[in-house]
Amino acid sequence: MRVIDLIKSTEKTAFSFEILPPLKGTGIEKVYADIDSLREFDPKYINITTHRSEYVYRELGDGLFRRDRLRRRPGTVAVAAAIQNRYNITVVPHMLCSGFTREDTEYMLLDLQFLGITDLLVLRGDKAKHESSFTPEPGGNSHAIELEEQINDFNRGVFVDGSPIKAPLQPFSYGVACYPEKHEESPNPEQDLYWLSRKIEAGAEYAVTQLFYDNRRYFDFVERARKAGINVPIIPGIKPFTKLSQISMIPKTFKVDLPEELASEAIKCRTDQEARILGTEWCIYQCRELIEQGVPSIHFYTVGAVESVRDIAREIY
Ligand code: FAD
Repeated sequence: MRVIDLIKSTEKTAFSFEILPPLKGTGIEKVYADIDSLREFDPKYINITTHRSEYVYRELGDGLFRRDRLRRRPGTVAVAAAIQNRYNITVVPHMLCSGFTREDTEYMLLDLQFLGITDLLVLRGDKAKHESSFTPEPGGNSHAIELEEQINDFNRGVFVDGSPIKAPLQPFSYGVACYPEKHEESPNPEQDLYWLSRKIEAGAEYAVTQLFYDNRRYFDFVERARKAGINVPIIPGIKPFTKLSQISMIPKTFKVDLPEELASEAIKCRTDQEARILGTEWCIYQCRELIEQGVPSIHFYTVGAVESVRDIAREIY
């Protein structure tokens, strides 16, 4: 079932969990164990992230280096298929511009068609670690909206070279990302919202937010989005911090603010355990308020936080 239908058909606030494919060379057992421990909360769908390749330089001696292309977490499509088969649940692989040519994307779409996976989250992806700003892959898409257009063409039965797709297709449906506290590259919130509205017009059926800790920012954002004519579900993304270091690292990495009430408690934390308890309690509080306000669904970023997400879900399910 399409994500949008899953969200609309549930009476209770739906949950979704976002998981990462295993690190290259490690097995899928940990992914299964994580999902097993969250299944009792009846996730409506599971997102599987995609990770761009990076260039790494290996020293060969005599001042010579070799440049290798390395994808640390390959396997999004296979992991999505494995989860779909094992749990009979809707899976939502993430599609990226970053690190993918349009042909790479096309092959991914074809693989997904063969597997009967038709729900996607369409994203630009981040810059490579060695880049100062985002650079698309030569022959790749530059923005999420271009990737949407490629998927729309595919849905219409047209390959990137303009040739027709002969097999009957199950059309893809998709959501996109959005940023209650503005995307870091956007000059101002209005422009960021403008591009979100264009992504919705292009065909996105819902938007999932970047993680946030201040519900006011989410509610304000939804209000501004509605005024701008964006009427699709805006699904809040929640990530508890689980380690002391994350209290300062997450706001810097994801360009989000901690509200005063949380910040003043966070500076008192001295151990990972204290940080984990605070992170969990804060997200329980956030989720309770979001549910009270009638959010359609909550998206949990589970990476490194499965235990905390389980503790949160237990309180609010
Ligand atoms: P875009 O929509 O392309 O926007 C990027 C910037 O450009 C914004 O500032 C926007 O305002 C602006 N903009 C948009 N369209 C245009 C245009 N046509 N012309 C000019 N400016 C424009 N990253 C990963 O690598 N893998 C993942 O699996 C992943 N999953 C994510 C899941 C969620 C729910 C979220 C919120 C983010 C995820 N990300 C992931 C991170 C995401 O890829 C980054 O935040 C990225 O920097 C922006 O992606 P986007 O799709 O929002 O980009």
